[in-house]
Amino acid sequence: MSVTFGNALVESAEHRDLRASVAALGKRYGRGYFTAAVKAGRPVDELWREAGRLGYLGVSIPEEYGGGGAGISELAIVLEELGATGAPLLLMVVSPAICGTVIARFGTPEQKRRWLPGLADGSLRMAFGITEPDAGSNSHRITTTARRDGTDWLLSGRKVFISGVDIADATLVVGRTEDARTGKLKPCLFIVERGAPGFEFRPVEMEIAAPEKQFQLFLDEVRLPAEALVGDEDAGLLQLFAGLNPERVMTAAFSLGLGRYALTVAVEYARTRQVWRTPIGAHQAIAHPLAEAHIALEMAALMTRKAAFLYDAGDDLAAGEAANMAKYAAAEAGARAVDQAVHTLGGNGLTAEYGLASLLTASRVGRIAPVSREMILNFVSHHTLGLPKSY
Ligand SMILES: Cc1cc2nc3c(=O)[nH]c(=O)nc-3n(C[C@H](O)[C@H](O)[C@H](O)COP(=O)(O)OP(=O)(O)OC[C@H]3O[C@@H](n4cnc5c(N)ncnc54)[C@H](O)[C@@H]3O)c2cc1C
Repeated sequence: MSVTFGNALVESAEHRDLRASVAALGKRYGRGYFTAAVKAGRPVDELWREAGRLGYLGVSIPEEYGGGGAGISELAIVLEELGATGAPLLLMVVSPAICGTVIARFGTPEQKRRWLPGLADGSLRMAFGITEPDAGSNSHRITTTARRDGTDWLLSGRKVFISGVDIADATLVVGRTEDARTGKLKPCLFIVERGAPGFEFRPVEMEIAAPEKQFQLFLDEVRLPAEALVGDEDAGLLQLFAGLNPERVMTAAFSLGLGRYALTVAVEYARTRQVWRTPIGAHQAIAHPLAEAHIALEMAALMTRKAAFLYDAGDDLAAGEAANMAKYAAAEAGARAVDQAVHTLGGNGLTAEYGLASLLTASRVGRIAPVSREMILNFVSHHTLGLPKSY
């Protein structure tokens, strides 16, 4: 039996049907498929392609570009349900959720035609690069800069921890340009194709058991045509946030899926493992922390749905606050569920056979990326509670 979520009062019949069909796909591949790919150091292309073919990757992309015409609520359901079967697709957080959303909302007609149908059916993938070695959490400090050269742009800078660059056809890079009027730097988004001269990427050795790898990017005067700039040069910040809110909702969905998967394994084990007169799950020291983990996941799932709902309703401001809270709550709940699951299995929690220990590092990712738990607590302190800033 798996630990299930979703209830008629808070979720439509369509959403519950979507959950059920995605879960069925995830189970056909399952954790075994996922860990075999990790061991072999290869991407989970078969699952990616099939999810694309079935319309799951493109569920939030507009219908006129081959997508499902739904929203981030539906895309988050897809990622959460795949994760709950032990086979999450991390690149969904960036390819359809950030890049697909930003291009659909702000891209030129040509950019939409070039990228959206492929992002929708999974035949094209995009990575997303904002983090820089010397800026980290302080994205106001990024120095990747684009300057004009005739009608072209020349983009230079460095990025770090960028996921999936090796398997992405292009990376949506956050850079800055100089405002012609004020001389100040303002954020801008550029589509940089993987083979562009001057664009180099090197893997960062990570201790995460995941098929997607992270990379350092070196951009050395990468020449980009004028049409590589996404949307409006003067609306970079607005466009960026249009992508970052879905990213937070999707990271929440990733953590929820991981937590649910771990909890399912632990509950099954606690029901059957017996070393005294009763199964270990009858001992409250084992049962209560699992019950608490379940409650925390349920609460985080509700917050995630609220954030996705606000985003899909077009309320970017309210969605920003809710998406931060959802990402925080889900990451904490996911990490706690994994930790408790590992403990529930005793020694088996650390065996390769049960495969739970590798989730310990994976479940930490949601607490660090795309924005750390402390930066969310800062956001809520300042924006929601009106407390003064320390930095
Ligand atoms: C697996 C993985 C995948 C990633 N994928 C991508 C990707 O695809 N694209 C991308 O652009 N980035 C990606 N990232 C980068 C990620 O977004 C950053 O790691 C994250 O934003 C934190 O930045 P940092 O690592 O530089 O930490 P730092 O900014 O150096 O922070 C270190 C610690 O200090 C704390 N801290 C910093 N400032 C404050 C403050 N003012 N108050 C309180 N505490 C503070 C942080 O919370 C953190 O705990 C990924 C990271 C990981 C681990």
